[in-house]
Amino acid sequence: MQTRKGIPVSPGVAISRAVVVDTDEEAVPRRAVPTSGLAAEHDRLAEAIAASMDELRGLHAETASVLGDQLADIFSFHLGMLADKTLTARMDAVIDSEQVTAEYAAYSVMQDLADQFLGQDNAFFRERVVDIYDLKRRLLQHLVGERASVLDSIDQPSIVIAHDLTPSQTASLDRKMIRGIAIDVGGRTSHTAILAHALGIPAIVGLSDITRRVRNGQQVIIDGNRGLVHIDPDAEQLLEYRQEARVLREQARVLRQLRDEPAVTTDGTEVKLMANIEFPEEIPQALEFGASGVGLYRTEFLFMGADHEPTEEEQYESYATAVKLLEGRPLTIRTLDLGADKIATGIAGLHDHHEYNPFLGCRSIRLCLQHLDLFRTQLRAILRASALGPVRIMFPLISSIMELRQAKMILGDVREDLEDQGCELGEVPVGMMIEVPSAALQAHVFAKEVDFFSIGTNDLIQYTVAVDRSNERIANLYSGAHPAVITLIRDVVRDAKRAGIGVSLCGEMGGEPEFTMLLLGLGLRSLSISPPAIPEIKQLTRTVGIERCKRVARKVGGFDSDREVYNHLREELNKLMPGTFTGRSMNY
Ligand code: PEP
Ligand code: MG
Repeated sequence: MQTRKGIPVSPGVAISRAVVVDTDEEAVPRRAVPTSGLAAEHDRLAEAIAASMDELRGLHAETASVLGDQLADIFSFHLGMLADKTLTARMDAVIDSEQVTAEYAAYSVMQDLADQFLGQDNAFFRERVVDIYDLKRRLLQHLVGERASVLDSIDQPSIVIAHDLTPSQTASLDRKMIRGIAIDVGGRTSHTAILAHALGIPAIVGLSDITRRVRNGQQVIIDGNRGLVHIDPDAEQLLEYRQEARVLREQARVLRQLRDEPAVTTDGTEVKLMANIEFPEEIPQALEFGASGVGLYRTEFLFMGADHEPTEEEQYESYATAVKLLEGRPLTIRTLDLGADKIATGIAGLHDHHEYNPFLGCRSIRLCLQHLDLFRTQLRAILRASALGPVRIMFPLISSIMELRQAKMILGDVREDLEDQGCELGEVPVGMMIEVPSAALQAHVFAKEVDFFSIGTNDLIQYTVAVDRSNERIANLYSGAHPAVITLIRDVVRDAKRAGIGVSLCGEMGGEPEFTMLLLGLGLRSLSISPPAIPEIKQLTRTVGIERCKRVARKVGGFDSDREVYNHLREELNKLMPGTFTGRSMNY
């Protein structure tokens, strides 16, 4: 029995068997092979070894010519190991003696070798372990393909334990089978974390070494409220958590009854609670949770899962489906926010350049403005879908007025072309994300040129306090309670109101109950959040009055540190709804 603590990013309790998917220790299920199939496994192994050696020879030659022989030597070491017949013979022997697949044989022999090296006193051997893992990965890639294949093959209820999951891997997880997620890396608002929340899968990130602590098949409890992973729990713990899971299910059921109730404060102020989605298929569930529309449609996810650039028709289909599913409710479509951690691997030429700081690099609107065909195609598809219902367009990551003007100009051109072609188009309000401090500081300027703002706190926090949103090592510094962040939100809301334009907030902060009173007190009346968070935030909104929220905002405005702010917000929340949110914990 062992407990590890990480960053809770999606609430709930999950109890299940672990499937370990680690970049260093690729989980390879032990699959039995009938005697008649063993010869084929030997062939597969031989092919994988030959293909790996070819690759290594290529890498050796390339490295030698660019970086010199000394650095190329690293690949000689790998080649030497694969050429060593005693090693490969051990793999063949495992296939026969244990009657297992080639990948399992390769995995277990390489793992044993790594363990032997790790057990040596000599530092030289211990350092070589990295090479063994590298070689193991290469072999397994030839035998089982990409990591996603391990995830795809999960056919019983499981908890995924991984070093990291890409956002597109997370998006394609089978919700019926995946009960929980625990990963080594990541922060509160990494896209993987956001997706796990949207999928309603209890998840914990930033656990550092959970992949080394849990073995395949071990029983694990994920406590997504407190950020705890219990490995091999005892009977008492299991009983306790089974009870808690029942209580949580009942609470969720009660909260869902609020679905058709309005989100109105005790003094009658209406608050719009909208949904953040990645795919139109999420809309029915978002409506079940009580969303009054979609405030953020992250369209890049269609591109991330595709093996080609989605055509105008394919995009139109997605946007049209979303409009129809919403039956007259508003849909805010954000133009492509690719780059940084959201990579469209299937589209050639989009992310070719190495970047030292991808979050500060060619991402989002910057990428679109450098790939105008891609951008124009998306705009055409969005505008065409606007004929079917209320659609708004939103540009992400705008950091200067010229960028906004350029994006709007292209949108205007595309609209003209479509109108010339006789297409029927709806009125499409144009807005922008405020997620870069320069945009927040110049909100009064931008407000003259857009119809609405949506404050993206996930990025706004990372850029304001200079903390990578997906880096668990500095996650304690990433805080929406930072006074600088709160000042920016306050000023953006003020500038939007002065200019008479709409303003909403669509970062994860909007779905965290601790911040609800503050955000309402700062003047926000529209929040776009992860659908599963809607019932809780609605309940809270219906319990509080705006005057009280304003007092909270004033009080918080006088604090100097995020800790003071956060502690005060928690106290106020506990006073308002005693005992309701005691399970949550941030990084304080
Ligand atoms: C944000 O940055 O707050 C946001 C909503 O956008 P994303 O999380 O997709 O970057
Ligand atoms: Mg963002």
